[in-house]
Amino acid sequence: MSAHSTQVKSQSVDVLILGGGASGLMCALTAAQRGRQVLVLEKANRPGKKILMSGGGRCNFTNRQVEADNFISANPHFVKAALKRYTPWDFIAWVESRGIPYEERKHQQLFCQDSARDILDMLLDACEASGVEIRTACETQSLEKMADTGGFRIAGLQGDKAYRIEAASLVIATGALSIPTLGGSGYGYEVARQFGLDVTPLQAGLVPFMFTDALKPLCESLAGVSLEVEVECRGRRFREALLFTHRGMSGPAILQISNYWQPGDTVTLNLLPDLDAIQYVLQARQAQGKSLLRTVLQSVLPKGLVLALQSRSWQEKAESPLGAFNEKELRAIGHLLNAWVVKPSGTEGYRTAEVTRGGVDTTAISSKTMEARQVPGLYFIGEVLDVTGHLGGFNFQWAWSSGYSAGLVA
Ligand SMILES: Cc1cc2nc3c(=O)[nH]c(=O)nc-3n(C[C@H](O)[C@H](O)[C@H](O)COP(=O)(O)OP(=O)(O)OC[C@H]3O[C@@H](n4cnc5c(N)ncnc54)[C@H](O)[C@@H]3O)c2cc1C
Repeated sequence: MSAHSTQVKSQSVDVLILGGGASGLMCALTAAQRGRQVLVLEKANRPGKKILMSGGGRCNFTNRQVEADNFISANPHFVKAALKRYTPWDFIAWVESRGIPYEERKHQQLFCQDSARDILDMLLDACEASGVEIRTACETQSLEKMADTGGFRIAGLQGDKAYRIEAASLVIATGALSIPTLGGSGYGYEVARQFGLDVTPLQAGLVPFMFTDALKPLCESLAGVSLEVEVECRGRRFREALLFTHRGMSGPAILQISNYWQPGDTVTLNLLPDLDAIQYVLQARQAQGKSLLRTVLQSVLPKGLVLALQSRSWQEKAESPLGAFNEKELRAIGHLLNAWVVKPSGTEGYRTAEVTRGGVDTTAISSKTMEARQVPGLYFIGEVLDVTGHLGGFNFQWAWSSGYSAGLVA
């Protein structure tokens, strides 16, 4: 007998949930409220770390307008049933009943007014009230489906203490690869593969772009400058703020479009989404022919950006009045302002990505219950699935809706 096996703690529960994040806690309290005995095993030293860091510490917990089109998945219909079963209104009603102060920001995004902790406490209090047990610092070492009972057996370590748990239902809520320091892990994909389920290609999502070409120094020189743009890639468009950074480009516009971008793709930026820039500069030549182009553009664009574009595109005429530009030159500059094509060299990757694109292939999962069709009793919820939301509270809504759906049956 090994030293460990003498102190193995064995336990049997109805529902075992791996991962005490957004979806796992939601699933736990839902199942426990049905009278199920629920145990959550969390790898980190405390549950819900990502919730605490989310939305700049204020947790963008949902969005008033949630539709299937706000999610990316190989099966765009997959999210519909769960989102209908547990809607943003359900979550908002709960937040209101707790008296949590919240506010609506741009694009109907709902944030806590005080702190993301309000949301985590709401989940943890409900877990406690319904008898959910949460154990932290738990590392799973083996997982198997038992032939005799059809249930699952898990063996693992909590510190130096070994445990063995048997459960009728096993819920995988271990999240995805983004931000390893906040619990990002690929464990859920390993479990999926162990049971013969496919995992679609994984990629960092909601993530800043980096550049290696001439744009790198340009972005560096503009770090901190922000403006509203329309950004387009692969037929998807978002109108949001763009932020130049020391490494490249970020801001909501870039994070949104990064969910659609593939390596090698170009991205088109409309720096003046409310203006026909060609007409604007041609008319300016007529009306203000003695002015410098940069002076005219500085009334509609940040000064630093105009200077950077000038040194890139009309440096030889930087000190010439607008009247000295010919129509072809102005058309080219106008076109650049409305459709600047840039080619990211890559993204900042999982270190800073808010989400992971791709995941457990939904074709093998029931969209109503999140149960793996070929493996009765095994459920996948939250970000581990091939479901990625836009920026704006959609990823948490998916965690609440999928967690709730599984919690109703697990
Ligand atoms: C910085 C940041 C800010 C964000 N802000 C927002 C926002 O404002 N609004 C929004 O909608 N979305 C936001 N997101 C995305 C959102 O946090 C995730 O989509 C959501 O948390 C996914 O829920 P989940 O339960 O699937 O995974 P998580 O919440 O990540 O939970 C997974 C849990 O499983 C644990 N775990 C991992 N491996 C194991 C294992 N082997 N055994 C046991 N436990 C394990 C992890 O430690 C973690 O606690 C943000 C993400 C980041 C990184």
